[in-house]
Amino acid sequence: MVKLEGKVAVITGGGKGIGAAITRELARNGVKVVVNYNKSREAADQLIAEIKENGGEGIAVQADVSTQEEANKLIAAAVEQYGRLDILVNNAGITRDRTFKKLSNEDWNEVINVNLNSVYYTTAAALPYITESDAGRIINISSIIGQAGGFGQTNYSAAKAGMIGFTKSLALELAKTGVTVNAICPGFIETDMLAEVPDNIREQIKAKIPARRFGHADEIARGVLYLCQDGEYITGQQLNINGGLYM
Ligand code: NAP
Repeated sequence: MVKLEGKVAVITGGGKGIGAAITRELARNGVKVVVNYNKSREAADQLIAEIKENGGEGIAVQADVSTQEEANKLIAAAVEQYGRLDILVNNAGITRDRTFKKLSNEDWNEVINVNLNSVYYTTAAALPYITESDAGRIINISSIIGQAGGFGQTNYSAAKAGMIGFTKSLALELAKTGVTVNAICPGFIETDMLAEVPDNIREQIKAKIPARRFGHADEIARGVLYLCQDGEYITGQQLNINGGLYM
């Protein structure tokens, strides 16, 4: 088991939703957290205040990780603050759901840039520091939609499947260094992202989930903690946390 006390993590989109749950879980276990946000400044600042009140340590950093320049700025801010980087959680993501017929170039590019290109940008910037760590971890929050597809989600599905391919290839390249690279594939989790789905579609989805409920953000966070703490020999994998919806 890896001691997480004193390790440093960057969580992209860490101010709300699944990212905030991951941030809380890592902070509770002694990790210094660098919470990236793009628009949700208030949420990120509140989260850092809460973590500090509970005896943890962290900073919030604004950066639009869909651009290489800002992703570089985020990683530089983390290293400047704490002098090291051990864990990178690529969690930032958006949806622009439309059937393929209605999909615009903008819908395609925005989703690929935020969900997939960001992973390349942050990882490229972070890798020199993570390979110095004795417990380097890269965890990519992909999706069941990257595995099974989703109606009206060609852009999102391509980005999330791309994350899985990226994860496996980088895991192969880094295995001998001790840095592990894994994807977590959540099913349908109660956050703002799921709230955007119309009620009738949400009910149809829920009826198909063997566990008969949506997941909670902290159930994804515990998966991240597991990979960080007990995952020395786990690399290149997809951890499916989906109530049995995709096996
Ligand atoms: P959410 O509540 O909408 O959160 C999305 C997060 O991404 C926010 O923190 C947001 O930050 C951040 N983000 C978006 N664009 C960004 C950018 N350009 N730069 C930096 N951060 C950016 O959704 P969520 O459900 O927690 O989603 C988190 C991740 O889980 C996503 O990758 C999503 O695809 C994945 N996922 C979610 C579900 C689900 O059912 N909820 C299922 C499978 C996978 P700002 O608000 O500051 O912009």
